[in-house]
Amino acid sequence: MPSADLVILGGGSGGYACALRAAELGMSVILIDKDKLGGTCLHRGCIPTKALLHAAEIADAARESEQFGVRATLEGIDMPKVNEYRDGVVGRLYKGLQGLVKSRNVTLIEGAGRLVSPNTVEVNGEQYTGTDVVLATGSYARSLPGLPIGGRIMTSDQALNLDYVPSSVIVLGGGVIGVEFASVWRSFGSEVTIVEGLPHLVPNEDEAASKALERAYRKRGINFSLGIRFASAEQDDTGVTVTLEDGTVFRADLLLVAVGRGPNTEGMGYEEQGIAMERGWVLVDERQHTNLPHMYAVGDITPGLQLAHRGFQHGIFVAEEIAGLSPVVIPDVNIPKVTYCEPEVASVGLSEVEARAQYGDAVQTYEYNLGGNGKSQILGTAGFVKLVSITDGPVIGVHMVGSRVGEQIGEAQLIVNWEAHPDDVAVLIHAHPTQNEALGEAHLALAGKPLHSHA
Ligand SMILES: Cc1cc2nc3c(=O)[nH]c(=O)nc-3n(C[C@H](O)[C@H](O)[C@H](O)COP(=O)(O)OP(=O)(O)OC[C@H]3O[C@@H](n4cnc5c(N)ncnc54)[C@H](O)[C@@H]3O)c2cc1C
Repeated sequence: MPSADLVILGGGSGGYACALRAAELGMSVILIDKDKLGGTCLHRGCIPTKALLHAAEIADAARESEQFGVRATLEGIDMPKVNEYRDGVVGRLYKGLQGLVKSRNVTLIEGAGRLVSPNTVEVNGEQYTGTDVVLATGSYARSLPGLPIGGRIMTSDQALNLDYVPSSVIVLGGGVIGVEFASVWRSFGSEVTIVEGLPHLVPNEDEAASKALERAYRKRGINFSLGIRFASAEQDDTGVTVTLEDGTVFRADLLLVAVGRGPNTEGMGYEEQGIAMERGWVLVDERQHTNLPHMYAVGDITPGLQLAHRGFQHGIFVAEEIAGLSPVVIPDVNIPKVTYCEPEVASVGLSEVEARAQYGDAVQTYEYNLGGNGKSQILGTAGFVKLVSITDGPVIGVHMVGSRVGEQIGEAQLIVNWEAHPDDVAVLIHAHPTQNEALGEAHLALAGKPLHSHA
């Protein structure tokens, strides 16, 4: 029976990061995946969608070129060509990842695995035993009861493979995936309507960010219905009709169902082996241990934020935990989040409402408007940087809206995770003219010494 120090089931962001780090630390590793190494993020998630968003940005730049004095016209979107560009990006990264895994001597096994004992995974009739086992089987796109996927009703998996631009789309769900696809399709020329049952788009963000995105989407001609729940959908040869609980009816070529992702754990033997689970999620403590000894779980199968970089961090963490390095726990709230639509939404730490619930009146906030930021004016984007801090204490939340602000999340996450006070950041220098200056300006203002803004 083949055996290794570590057997990892699932080679997505969480699983392969764990394999690479464990191999670096000298462990022998067997990594099992039934599909392509790299998982959702590389093949059906982060990377392909961001390639589409980049093509969308170019379409917008061509369409809006006149306002910058450049005469260009947008003749149309060649979707097969866009897909070719996207596949090229994914293909290069996939090749690189395969090379990395090989160079670290990780044994890659192709096939669907099933846990048959607390330390053994069976694949194609062969059993692989690990001193430690890591579960990393990820997530799948969910639908709603009575809303089967097929034909004109699709999830992000099918939407990514369209070889044409639909003339109209209804997007069910105003969360991260929904608003990103809405953004792409609008830039490509589709009529887009988002249906969100909660009162705001990106409802997990600070309300100020949600409202700013709603203003920007309204301006872009993206329609949305908020606070009314979906009732039913029917498709025929020419389109899809969606009815809401208040009787409102929308019709479009396609319906994208973006209502969240469920844990990919069914039929894999987890429950049978006695792993504690809840509604399909694998339960772990803050150090990623399941209830069984030597058994860990990482990434989207554990409750919490579903983000590739959370998966990477979990994977690295578990490898170091097994090696006895006592890695530092990063709570979910301090993981940076970026929604890559136009304009982008980026945040880390507590929202104002969450902070006030926790710290009451000891909370102060400051919103720096990108109207005062040179680079944002050059780009023609609106938005803000909002800081949430404890009075005379550290910054505990940073929330940003505007074109390209996702690129600023790196400094924001250092500020929050290093528990910097506004004064600590205010003395540091932010290069001019960059959008990064807006972060500096917001801290200057919160430290009581605003430069290009009013107190
Ligand atoms: C459209 C879309 C856009 C996204 N954009 C972003 C983004 O911009 N930024 C971001 O941070 N996150 C993004 N995400 C989320 C991100 O993709 C996930 O959080 C991440 O992929 C989770 O990693 P994981 O390792 O937990 O699972 P996965 O990446 O899903 O990997 C699980 C792996 O397990 C394998 N597997 C499953 N069952 C078995 C089995 N029985 N046997 C063998 N192998 C098995 C699968 O084949 C898969 O390769 C996006 C997701 C989607 C769908």
